[in-house]
Amino acid sequence: MDSLAHFVSGRSVPSLGATIPIVDPVTGKAIGSVPMADQHEVDVAVAAAKAALTSWSALGIQHRINIIFDMRQSLVEASDELVDLVIVETGKTRSDAAAEVARSIEAVGLAVNASTLYATPYTRGVSSDVNTFEVRYPIGVVAAISPFNFPLIIPLVQTMTAIACGNTVVIKPSERNPSALLRTAGLFTKAGLPDGVLNVILGDRRAVDRLIEHPDVAGITFVGSSAVARDIRTRGVAHNKRVQAFGGGKNHMVVMPDADISIAADAAVSAAYGAAGQRCMAVSVVVAVGEIADALVHEIKTRACAVKIGAVAEASTQLGPVISDESRKRISGYVANAASEGAVVLLDGRQHSAGHAGWFFGPTLIDHVKPGMRLHSDEIFGPVLAVVRVERYEDAIEVISAHDLGNGAAIFTRDGSMANRFTDDAPAGQIGINVPIPVPVYFHGFAGWKDSAFSETKLHGRDAIAFLTRTKTVSARWLKPASSSVELHFPSTR
Ligand code: NAD
Repeated sequence: MDSLAHFVSGRSVPSLGATIPIVDPVTGKAIGSVPMADQHEVDVAVAAAKAALTSWSALGIQHRINIIFDMRQSLVEASDELVDLVIVETGKTRSDAAAEVARSIEAVGLAVNASTLYATPYTRGVSSDVNTFEVRYPIGVVAAISPFNFPLIIPLVQTMTAIACGNTVVIKPSERNPSALLRTAGLFTKAGLPDGVLNVILGDRRAVDRLIEHPDVAGITFVGSSAVARDIRTRGVAHNKRVQAFGGGKNHMVVMPDADISIAADAAVSAAYGAAGQRCMAVSVVVAVGEIADALVHEIKTRACAVKIGAVAEASTQLGPVISDESRKRISGYVANAASEGAVVLLDGRQHSAGHAGWFFGPTLIDHVKPGMRLHSDEIFGPVLAVVRVERYEDAIEVISAHDLGNGAAIFTRDGSMANRFTDDAPAGQIGINVPIPVPVYFHGFAGWKDSAFSETKLHGRDAIAFLTRTKTVSARWLKPASSSVELHFPSTR
């Protein structure tokens, strides 16, 4: 079985170090192996990024964006191949993998945003003959660390604006499924991205540790689980780096008594079980308000039972496996404990093999979940939907507010004023109004609240430019001859 190689300075660089297997989640069989970079290999990648920085940042921003447009086109042409790579290493269904690749291509187009948001203020005449303006610079080498669940979208969101702004990048994708990104990096080089601008280093936490402490890394952008996000943010800041660290989610979907039950049930099932629940914006808790609960739970259960689970490469399959045996065992543990916590398991996906040897887990529905149960407090990250029943809207807000995580929250209602109230009351970074997964388009920002994000800036949109650049504020006076004098007081505007 071939081992994958790092991608540094525009070419594959084999590793001499230890490897771990890449496992197809459908079959449970190893299909390749991935090296774990040691400190020296990380240092080589950072050195390559540093070496490319001067010439890349010296190109005009429009020149850089023109190259990125060619890179985008290379993905369009290779999209079928990329879909297959996402399927085989992640276990996504064909339709979900195709959506990921389409959204990844949009993420490359994100660079266009950089050009419109890059301009800086210029004030003519702040004092006699003095003009003040800001000059924008890239921060330098940016390290990106990505999770397994979107092996292409997230790495591209993390890196394209960085590159457009003139930074160079070392990215460490998830060790579970790096092939789509490696292929993409190769395509980008062929499309004209200069060597060293985007380097992919394969490995685990040791590689991340080296990136965090490396003196030539200026900024870190991390997406993954909350515990790791918190740790990376703390350590990165201690090394005086800029750090954005985005964590996990436990997203509540409130269904008001006036909601259309059929629409709400369709949305809950789609958002809870899509991608086997392995989305940071998956709906994992339905909060049923008042008398709607019984009918809503019935409709959700009916739809969940009809979800087609199995062969991921077939277009009609709706639910694939979770990423690993470890994940499957972890999720099983929550379901096994549900009754002892006082909840009621209506659908139990533990024994659902879908006829494959891999890590399948059927749609699972658990009713009468209450805040304080681990089923509610923890991010389960699998196809498990919890139902919390409350009497009033205010109780629903209390349930959401008491939770540590706040990535997204949605409300289903026909009442516009209630939707406006929810927008103000729900403590989450992304709000859905009759939209179960409110992931915004790339020209709007994305970041959770509470322990879903350890960052002052959002992942894309205007904030990303602020995070990825630094400015100098210049005060300039072009002197007329003999117009100066010695003045010891603080600079005044008169
Ligand atoms: P993870 O935290 O286990 O791993 C993420 C990355 O960090 C990987 O590259 C991994 O190699 C590295 N890593 C793991 N442990 C580390 C450690 N102790 N120190 C340093 N680096 C470490 O996450 P995952 O399982 O790959 O992805 C799923 C998680 O990501 C979920 O919690 C999900 O909600 C979250 N996620 C969040 C967003 C968001 O936008 N907020 C988006 C996607 C996924």
